[in-house]
Amino acid sequence: MQRGEHQRADQSVDVHAAIVPAGARCGGRVTVGRTPGPSRHLVTMRFPLALSVKIAGHILKHKLRRTPKFALVLQLEPLHTCNLTCTGCGRIREYSTSLKNLVPLEKCLAVADECDAPMVSICGGEPLIYPQIEALVEGLRRQGRIVYICTNGVFMRKKLKDYLATVHRPEHPADEARLRQLLAEQLIAEADAAIIRRGPEDQRPVIRPSKWLYWNVHVDGLEYTHDLIVEREGVFRECVAAIKLAKRLGYQVATNTTVYRETDVREIEEMFKFFSSLGCDGHTISPGYDYDAAKQDMVKRLGKNPEAFFLTRKMTIEKFAKIEEWGKAFTIFGTPVYQEFLAGKRELTCTAWAIPTYNVQGWKAPCYLMTDTLHSAGHYPTYQEMLTQVDWDRYGVVNGVARDPRCENCMVHCGYDPSGALGTNYQRGDNWKNFKYNFWPRPPAYPADAELTKRVFNGVSIGQGHLAKAKTAAPTSAIPGSNHQGQSSAAALSSSGGARARDLSGTKMAAAKKE
Ligand code: SF4
Ligand code: SF4
Repeated sequence: MQRGEHQRADQSVDVHAAIVPAGARCGGRVTVGRTPGPSRHLVTMRFPLALSVKIAGHILKHKLRRTPKFALVLQLEPLHTCNLTCTGCGRIREYSTSLKNLVPLEKCLAVADECDAPMVSICGGEPLIYPQIEALVEGLRRQGRIVYICTNGVFMRKKLKDYLATVHRPEHPADEARLRQLLAEQLIAEADAAIIRRGPEDQRPVIRPSKWLYWNVHVDGLEYTHDLIVEREGVFRECVAAIKLAKRLGYQVATNTTVYRETDVREIEEMFKFFSSLGCDGHTISPGYDYDAAKQDMVKRLGKNPEAFFLTRKMTIEKFAKIEEWGKAFTIFGTPVYQEFLAGKRELTCTAWAIPTYNVQGWKAPCYLMTDTLHSAGHYPTYQEMLTQVDWDRYGVVNGVARDPRCENCMVHCGYDPSGALGTNYQRGDNWKNFKYNFWPRPPAYPADAELTKRVFNGVSIGQGHLAKAKTAAPTSAIPGSNHQGQSSAAALSSSGGARARDLSGTKMAAAKKE
């Protein structure tokens, strides 16, 4: 441990800092935010009291016991299979040889029990592909945990309709009126309504609304940008429909955004406004830095400079210059201390052990983004083994100096948001700031705005097919370091998710937007 680090941890009583899972793409990136959520009786509070109290109790318990390291959020990846191949997702690349493997349900529940984090973020891969996702959510809820389902949104409406089928009573006028309303809003189709009216076919569990549960939907910008990044047209529109349906059915929903080098922050503000107007309960936002798996792939296999695509620390600070302003206008997850860090106003040290990741290979060390096989085993069989065997002082950036070069540009939630909550770099007034942020009234929802909605649906919805447009807009010669001379962009992009396609992200976004 560096001198000065953790020096005033004992002063932190930042118990309410409801750090929450977010930021990993659905699977590939993690953002640690805060517990959001509308509680009917505490609707004016930024975060639900019961959840804040639960996390507060957890931190306080460990502070009193002087537990040196403990988990706040478990990033649980029961599988790495995904229906998308998003640009910049490290998961489906790092674990490409084990994409078909699953963590058995019992093991998922056992590891949650083992690390005892009050919050579990189920990610992946796409967690809704996990065959026992409903039982997993139910099991974690039985353990008393706050559950986040980090999803790309594509299968979300299916799960919502499964739930609706279990509660719909065709003979009940109010239920029928609700169904007709959902039909009118095109959130369900006639065929869906018929299935819902028939009721469930078996006794399988469904994912029910709860104040302890959040859908955390991956959205990286407005329609055009998001569909470019996920490399499939129509995904943004599906996410919006799923979010609307979830809100109509009483679920809590957060959005989860990664900021890239080419991300226009004005677009991010528009996105916050739009999803706030839909009644979303919070937003997580995280810098997409040059994490190891993606960087190695880019350097070794493609001979490209990652700085052309990912954020450096300096760029992150520039992009997040208005994060505190956003925190006032919208329900942004992440402690105010972490927000100050992102805005470049203070330093924090990495506390990646507080947000451990468990996946098909075990407990991933040292963090969600990096698997260090040079100085650690890479994956460990138990959380305790990982805690005791990993040399945590090797990682992070302290006083501007990277302890490990791979950490140099990292400012992600999973490394640094817990530091804000745990008070590892305590400064006078931090507790009050965090307390105020949690218990102050929630920023009001942004008013519905037809002009805003028009600006939001700026892609395939108005006939702007992103793939076709990007093919025209990003000629091969425009790709920095391209070693595919002679290959047309169209050919490169035609294999959505292929190496060429994903590495074109920055260029696609920049070139398409110049049009
Ligand atoms: S949806 Fe995209 S970011 Fe999420 S796991 Fe799949 S490929 Fe990765
Ligand atoms: S600073 Fe390093 S160890 Fe910490 S979260 Fe970032 S990459 Fe991981």
